[in-house]
Amino acid sequence: MQPLSTLTRRQLLQRLAVASPVVLAPSLLSACQHDEDPKPTFSGSVIIIGAGAAGLYAGQLLAERGLTVTILEASDAIGGRIKPLEGWGTPFPLELGAEEVHGNNSHWYRAAQQFGGAFKADNTTDYQRIRLDVVPEAQANQDPDVAEVRSFVAWLDEANPATVPDVSVNQLAAQRGVLDTSNLLDALLGNEYGTDNQSLGARGVAEGSQAWTAGEGNYSLASTPLLQVLRSLCPQAVDKVQLSTPVVAINYRDGGVRVADARGQIYQADRCLITTSVGVLRSGNIEFTPALPQVKQDALRLIGFGPGMKILLRFSSRFWPADLGSLYIPGAVPEFWSPSTGQDGGPYVLTAFVHGTEAASLSAMGADAVDYVVGQLFGSFPGANPRGLLVSSHIEDWGKNPYIRGTYSYPLPGGTGARNGLAAPVAGKLFFAGEATHTGGHFGTVHGAVETAERAVAEILRS
Ligand SMILES: Cc1cc2nc3c(=O)[nH]c(=O)nc-3n(C[C@H](O)[C@H](O)[C@H](O)COP(=O)(O)OP(=O)(O)OC[C@H]3O[C@@H](n4cnc5c(N)ncnc54)[C@H](O)[C@@H]3O)c2cc1C
Repeated sequence: MQPLSTLTRRQLLQRLAVASPVVLAPSLLSACQHDEDPKPTFSGSVIIIGAGAAGLYAGQLLAERGLTVTILEASDAIGGRIKPLEGWGTPFPLELGAEEVHGNNSHWYRAAQQFGGAFKADNTTDYQRIRLDVVPEAQANQDPDVAEVRSFVAWLDEANPATVPDVSVNQLAAQRGVLDTSNLLDALLGNEYGTDNQSLGARGVAEGSQAWTAGEGNYSLASTPLLQVLRSLCPQAVDKVQLSTPVVAINYRDGGVRVADARGQIYQADRCLITTSVGVLRSGNIEFTPALPQVKQDALRLIGFGPGMKILLRFSSRFWPADLGSLYIPGAVPEFWSPSTGQDGGPYVLTAFVHGTEAASLSAMGADAVDYVVGQLFGSFPGANPRGLLVSSHIEDWGKNPYIRGTYSYPLPGGTGARNGLAAPVAGKLFFAGEATHTGGHFGTVHGAVETAERAVAEILRS
């Protein structure tokens, strides 16, 4: 997810190729402690469910204060939706989940800058297919339909949310006579926000855009996987993670909190911080006793979360422009980009990024999705025979991951305020963090997840 703009992630990068450097905080943790925690009272034990960005950062903050912390992680790895692709041997990182740092004003940005090494220089150009040709963005923007889509996106970015009808982006576009003949609107809004324009709530997009305070630009690390940044940010927390431990029950009726894992092991603590995704909370795979209050059930209904995938395609030679940023061509996948852009001599990789109903269809195809997607490329680069050049592929289907069940949360029509309900503590013992609980517009991002950890830790310390 990104701050809404007429510019996509890579377009923003282009505009901000020379990003204004941000002064490094002496310590991210001390900065947080000053801001969030004037009078801590709580000093007991905490169980954290989930070792993604939110769970690990919360664990780090609590461990630094000397609290007893246990982090239970269902899968066999830390990171959650930060996940590198191993084994392809590329000199640049391949990210299956989060890939870019959105904005230059967050702890996460500073951590990436401080620990993670250099950001990629960006001198790329976005390309779009207009009629039969794949052309640079500047040329594509001469097309009246493309110009109309971009001006609609710009308007939504600036709009006072109260004046934006509380309908889907598709409905609003139709009301305003905007035709998405090129699929570009889906790429810039629905797909970027983790869904499609049929589901994405227009007012929620405007709300998120107005609330965004994470700065500008989008940044990819040249040679460091984001997981390494997360490890560096949370060294003490990493040691407190118990992997392969799916939590199946949380009982907070009496005394403290009793947590049961799938093997029947019981863990007890004074407080519990839950960082699992909306998809996991909705699934009912964690049983709460007593049941979570109605405000949580409502929030889970009013926050969008659904299928999405990245398909990474490695080719023996490059058939796309050498300076490719994003690629928008008709078909199931609204956006492609190349993690190998800027690498002389390969390896040559394209990433297909797809959400919503198209992702659900591709997911149902299983391994055949690769050929389908390469066929989409063939349609736009017919002379190149992409099928013949394909060397290997990887499908990361986040909807099929039992411990995530989708990609990242997005606004639905009618969802205003729902995130407050998801974030609210329950009975002074259960606390909630994770990207979907961000109430200030940074949902769907890593820096947002990190910020929710700070908020939840402050709540725990005050409890
Ligand atoms: C394809 C994709 C692309 C993205 N691109 C970007 C990007 O470019 N930039 C950006 O900022 N963000 C991006 N994001 C979003 C970002 O990755 C997430 O917002 C962020 O990583 C979420 O962190 P979290 O801690 O809230 O949740 P998670 O990372 O989901 O962590 C929750 C953890 O809980 C664990 N868990 C689940 N159930 C249980 C259970 N029962 N018991 C114990 N543990 C459990 C999970 O295994 C997981 O490790 C992307 C996400 C995806 C999927």
